[in-house]
Amino acid sequence: MNKDYDVIIVGGGPAALAAAVYTCRALLKTVIFEKQYLGGQLVGTDLIENYPGFPEVISGVDLTQRMEAQAKRFGVEIRYEEVLKLSLENGLKVVTTDIDAYASHVVVLASGAEPKKLGVPGEKEFYGKGVSYCATCDGAFFKGKDVVVIGGGDSAITEGIFLTKYAKTVQIIHRRDAFRATKIYLDEAFSNPKIKVILNTVIESIHGQEKVDGVVTQNILTQEKKEIPCQGVFTFIGSVPNTGFLGNLLCVDAGCHIETNIHMETAIEGLYAVGDIRKNSYRQIATAIGEGVTAAIAAEHKLAELKALGKGEK
Ligand SMILES: Cc1cc2nc3c(=O)[nH]c(=O)nc-3n(C[C@H](O)[C@H](O)[C@H](O)COP(=O)(O)OP(=O)(O)OC[C@H]3O[C@@H](n4cnc5c(N)ncnc54)[C@H](O)[C@@H]3O)c2cc1C
Repeated sequence: MNKDYDVIIVGGGPAALAAAVYTCRALLKTVIFEKQYLGGQLVGTDLIENYPGFPEVISGVDLTQRMEAQAKRFGVEIRYEEVLKLSLENGLKVVTTDIDAYASHVVVLASGAEPKKLGVPGEKEFYGKGVSYCATCDGAFFKGKDVVVIGGGDSAITEGIFLTKYAKTVQIIHRRDAFRATKIYLDEAFSNPKIKVILNTVIESIHGQEKVDGVVTQNILTQEKKEIPCQGVFTFIGSVPNTGFLGNLLCVDAGCHIETNIHMETAIEGLYAVGDIRKNSYRQIATAIGEGVTAAIAAEHKLAELKALGKGEK
């Protein structure tokens, strides 16, 4: 069992990178476990306009690179390993990854969230063949094509606007009779000639041969079904927290979010949860950062307290 680290952080998104800056600067040996790539959902975001300090827009990739450089400057170790399990043993938290097991007194859960799926026929089959959850990653493949975007919040609208750079037409399909996105984004979308909106409508199925060639929609007021020819289907209908590796260790709410106190500490002492996995989080980059920082400072105090009580040994 590896007991090298004072602080173990699960996930490598903005919440994790912010926490690492603080724990490393407090001279706590810190590791981040990331199963995929650093930056999390940031990486799939093209234009970030609301992260303070960047009066011009910044892309998610650029912001990630800056956060990574800053955390590395203070000595964070990044291990590309997937966390499979968290357990408690002899007063320590044990994080089991696909490579090894690691124990420490403090663990920060920052495993974020992943896109919610539509759950309709064709969605799984055509993933990567027209079905996408990331306009920044895949938008360029749809030059001159017709695409549909599903959703009614900020992500659906901003990603829909982004897709007009490439696509011939972008039809935004929303199941309600009004969008809940911010007005400034809606104004921009409504004035874009490539964008058309379809309200009160759900997707019934996605079809095609090798790749997507259309979707079937249903109007929920009239029940009328329609065939919409398109080559791309981009879905932005929210997210599901990545908490599966916790098993029954923590009591998570119906939406699988983790409850914490104001110090970001969960019901288990020394175990913190930050960012999009946390219940009542506002699910923004700035709030994820603030929560990561809060947990890092609380963790530093916790480790000092354990040491003072003679309980800091591993
Ligand atoms: C399309 C889109 C656009 C957005 N636009 C904006 C915006 O303009 N402004 C804004 O403020 N917010 C925006 N957001 C929201 C913002 O991206 C999130 O709130 C933020 O990224 C949450 O950060 P996080 O660190 O909590 O989690 P995430 O960013 O989700 O990162 C979690 C990381 O944990 C890793 N992970 C998960 N499970 C494991 C495991 N078992 N083992 C190891 N690693 C694991 C994941 O691979 C991921 O890298 C947008 C989100 C989306 C989807």
